[in-house]
Amino acid sequence: MTIVPPADPALVAELVTGNRILYDQKIVDAFGHLSVRHDKDPTKYLMSRHLAPGLVTPDDLVTFDLDSVPVVDIGKRYYSERFIHGEIYKARPEVVAVVHCHAPQLIPFGATKVPLRPIYHMSGFLGAGVPIFEIRDTGGITDMLVRTPVLGRALAASLGDKPVILMRGHGATMVGNSIKHVVYRAVYAALNAALQMEALRLGEPMFLSEEEAVLAAQRNDNALDRAWNMWQREALGAN
Ligand code: MN
Repeated sequence: MTIVPPADPALVAELVTGNRILYDQKIVDAFGHLSVRHDKDPTKYLMSRHLAPGLVTPDDLVTFDLDSVPVVDIGKRYYSERFIHGEIYKARPEVVAVVHCHAPQLIPFGATKVPLRPIYHMSGFLGAGVPIFEIRDTGGITDMLVRTPVLGRALAASLGDKPVILMRGHGATMVGNSIKHVVYRAVYAALNAALQMEALRLGEPMFLSEEEAVLAAQRNDNALDRAWNMWQREALGAN
């Protein structure tokens, strides 16, 4: 039996809070998930069992290996799309946290040829380019869910070294170097999509240049706590 030391309680608390924030910010609804790489064993990650993100508590968290097999099977149902997380952690050693969501604002950009691009400084991270995952290329006709290791690997390959990938007819997945980082990216990717859609109604948007996007992203990566602390208050209430 594999022995995995317990994760830092602060990390566990942050993962629970991140789930609540993503729900409160309407990035996830009953569906979607957030995971974090284990702080004491990089070959493991933590994620809730099959549960709406707004309902996740510390007791619901499960440790998975990078094949997305639970280290200890708690005899409950797990997210069918957990392979998104495991295969990205395998392919991207620097990634610490992953969000998978179906945020409605992002769906049109995965279903058309209009690329999602940084329309303002808050989403400079999109300047790296946003690939689209076409599940048919690997799976043919499916139910659209990434619920096999093969599909998870194909998604990770399409993501490449980018921070965000759109999934045609399905949703999006984003990665970050912390829970706060990936939650920030999820919130602002969706806000960018809404703003870009508005701008497209007016005319041809002027996007951030590649250089502006890099500089803006660096600036915002140093202010993650400012957003997180407010979102946490909103999601959990004053305490
Ligand atoms: Mn999904």
